[in-house]
Amino acid sequence: MDLRIIALVVVAVFSISASYAAPPKKKLLLVTHTAGFRHEEGIAVGEKTLVEIGSITGSFTLEMCRNADDVKRMLTPDYLNANKFDGVIFNSTTGDLGIPDLKAFLEWIKGGKAFIGMHAATDTYHGNADYLDMIGDEFLTHGAQCTIEPLVQDPKHPATVQWEKGTKIHEEVYIFKHNDRSKVHVLLYLDKNPNDGRPVANQPGDNLLAWCKAYGKGKVFYTAFGHRGDVWTNEAIRRHMLGGIRWALGLAKGDSKPGPVLKP
Ligand SMILES: [Zn+2]
Repeated sequence: MDLRIIALVVVAVFSISASYAAPPKKKLLLVTHTAGFRHEEGIAVGEKTLVEIGSITGSFTLEMCRNADDVKRMLTPDYLNANKFDGVIFNSTTGDLGIPDLKAFLEWIKGGKAFIGMHAATDTYHGNADYLDMIGDEFLTHGAQCTIEPLVQDPKHPATVQWEKGTKIHEEVYIFKHNDRSKVHVLLYLDKNPNDGRPVANQPGDNLLAWCKAYGKGKVFYTAFGHRGDVWTNEAIRRHMLGGIRWALGLAKGDSKPGPVLKP
């Protein structure tokens, strides 16, 4: 064969393999251990949904951390580093999970990793100031499931950029202890109590639903959604979650400065 033809074939094969080479996938640990109430449906449909949106988009792969033994073995900086995890997802974890060294785990996130929390991730480690500081607020209560029309605070963020105005979601809607906008970058919120329309305690007329924040060099994304199975399969919520996860993993850019703080 002519040398020039061989060279052309080599270049062609190289170009094809280069164009088909998948971008480096990120790797997340999905934690679903519960030491309190267990959201069976939200955890099961959530796992299926997260595996799906990770693989369809080629953004991330997941490994599972499902029980107390898994938590003890996997939620340590040594294990997470040795297995090259880029972050963790806490989907409706509850209570004191038994992380061997919670401070060391939080330092690991601060070092530049992603923490993504759904629904009862704020119903986890109650009273632990370090964990609550990391996630941004603490679950207080909820009323009956109801239909809400979330308001978008930051329409440019990957977690909300595709959110269509007027989208309605039927869900068990969390009410938080603080709704403190000076601590988190607000993404979705309600301007009234989800159940009775009255002003919300602590910060009248403000009920946060999703936010993000910087945590040292790490990134935290939290969304209150994820109780009902059909919320997990709702297209608006899938896009919201995927956008938030991609942001936390550094695959998409978005603001994380706290606020905006509402004037009384
Ligand atoms: Zn719930």
